Amino acid sequence: MLHAVTWWLVPVYLHLHLLVPTPLLARYRRYLLPPLYALAAILAGLELFQALPPEAFYLGLFLAGVGSLALLFTRLFIGISSLARLATGQILAGIALAFGPGFALWVVPGLLHAPQSGMLNIYLMTFAASLLPFFYIYAVYKRLLGGLEFRANRALSLFSFLVVYLTTFVVVFVLSSQWVSFTPASLGFALTVSMLFVIGGLFLHAPFQRLINRLAYGTEHNPNDIIRAFANEIPRALNRDALVSLLTGEVNPSLLIRQSALYLWKDGQASLFYADGVALDPEMDASEQVRQWLADAKRYRPPKSELGEVSPEEQEADWVRLVIPIEVGDTVLGVWLFGQRDPDDYYPKPDIELLATLANQVGVALETMRLIEDLRHQASELEKAYEGLKELDRLKDEFIQNVSHELRTPLAVIRGYTDLLLEGLLGEISAEQRQAFQIVSDRVDAVIRLVNDILSFQQGPTLPLVREPIYLAELAQFSIRNAEILVQKMGRKDQFRFVLEASEDLPVIWGDYNRLSQVFDNLLGNAIKFSPEGGTITVRIRPCEYQFISRPEGGSRQSAIEVTVSDQGIGIPPEQIHRIWERFYQVDGSSTRRFGGAGIGLTIARNIIQAHGGVIWAESQVGVGSTFHFVLPVHESPLPSEGTGTYQNASVSS
Ligand code: ADP
Repeated sequence: MLHAVTWWLVPVYLHLHLLVPTPLLARYRRYLLPPLYALAAILAGLELFQALPPEAFYLGLFLAGVGSLALLFTRLFIGISSLARLATGQILAGIALAFGPGFALWVVPGLLHAPQSGMLNIYLMTFAASLLPFFYIYAVYKRLLGGLEFRANRALSLFSFLVVYLTTFVVVFVLSSQWVSFTPASLGFALTVSMLFVIGGLFLHAPFQRLINRLAYGTEHNPNDIIRAFANEIPRALNRDALVSLLTGEVNPSLLIRQSALYLWKDGQASLFYADGVALDPEMDASEQVRQWLADAKRYRPPKSELGEVSPEEQEADWVRLVIPIEVGDTVLGVWLFGQRDPDDYYPKPDIELLATLANQVGVALETMRLIEDLRHQASELEKAYEGLKELDRLKDEFIQNVSHELRTPLAVIRGYTDLLLEGLLGEISAEQRQAFQIVSDRVDAVIRLVNDILSFQQGPTLPLVREPIYLAELAQFSIRNAEILVQKMGRKDQFRFVLEASEDLPVIWGDYNRLSQVFDNLLGNAIKFSPEGGTITVRIRPCEYQFISRPEGGSRQSAIEVTVSDQGIGIPPEQIHRIWERFYQVDGSSTRRFGGAGIGLTIARNIIQAHGGVIWAESQVGVGSTFHFVLPVHESPLPSEGTGTYQNASVSS
């Protein structure tokens, strides 16, 4: 009876292997199978009636086994898809694992004339044989297992590992029992071998799992290696092209991914960051499709067409096998889509986790790129705004320049007529009238000084100079006299004492007389203005050696004259002392109201000193007083490079 069934195995096995894992000889199957089944029926019948020799059924077994193997091996050599070849490999591995232990336990000890281990062999072989259907089902239905696939893979791997492990263990003991007799004395040996197996098992399981993975997925990648290789590179790919070429040129190929794309959200629209191996719309309405994608994220999506009828739109989006959201913090920046993949388009759990880790890196890179883009945008906006302001500033300067020029002529006329009136050339005037005209004349002088200041201030440090030989002590003497007249007019003559300390051996310098007078006037004017209690104002002039760092002649010291103007006034707070040179800067609002002024006197003084190739600075102590220093280089002769343009303010300067 059992022998009759054996004959049936032949057509059933061959039929099975013609269909599994992929259909073979589709065109000839219907001519091939019916005669095969008919023949098996006849042979089974003959067997029932014991019309065949007793050993004949072995031939049936042989035909079923070898025929099936032949069909499987055929698949490895004919041009089938890599997916089918992989499944065939899995089935063959299953066969080897299911029958291998039997071979090892019977044949190896047999060859070495070692004793068989009897029942133990039978148990172990039964245990191993149960791997066979497991491998068949896994190879054929792997892609339909969904989330269970990972568990099936692990169970398969563990089961196979146990089979190989136990077989080796038993073979080792069977062989060793030939030389070592199991007495209490050999317990040490048994324990040592067992220990070695336990320890070896710990180390061998991981490589074995990799082997099974390779068998299951056809990949040789090690997730840790991939993470290590790309974790550093991705966040450094900080422009679109670099990131796209890293993802499509390196990450995808190393994971055998043939189709992938990345969509990013922008204003409710999803815009395509890249598409590799698939044609997609560059923009699309994000809402519905994205909601669906995100609901399915981080899970293998079996093709819908495999599960039933699909609409044409679904068909179009059906290339996506895996969706990984790209997130930074709580924000979803976009989705990373994966499709076809060698060999079987399947994304097992470890690879999903690996891609999710890489997606985090991609998220960081994209966010950094966005920040850089924002910064660039802001910088260009700021630059535009700055250009606008510069233009406004230029227009304002031009306006001030024009107005000041326009003021000069009427002021000169007023000045001329008040002089005529004061000198009595236009008729006798009373003492009261004289006093009134004097006030007018003084005020007009003040306005003329302001207009002159504004005009020279507008020209900055490039203002033209009219050079002549100047003896600075004389010039200072003259300015001090003006200052004395000023305090006299202010009615504060008794509060101030002016001291001039000039060295005897002062060299002559080549400078612009009117401009340098302006510097002295401004410094002395400030000394008076910011000394509400009065005090001594000292002007010191001495020759010195000075190193003008900014000059083209460079580091060497050169002959110079140093001038200091010190007062005993309110002083300047240290944190503001550097700002007093800025145009319009005044130490504080209340002092502005208290002392008046336009905040440009020092800017002009600095411009003039710099135009002469000199330097100016200040030292001060609040409540004690301030000292302003300037140093001018001494030149033997006029500088050839500087023009001798007309001095524009000459007509109105006093
Ligand atoms: P203005 O005198 O018209 O305000 P300046 O450019 O001449 O403008 O001076 C700028 C600021 O520097 C002044 O407002 C004042 O606060 C401070 N300053 C200048 N000279 C002195 C000084 N001798 N003592 C104290 N503060 C001074």
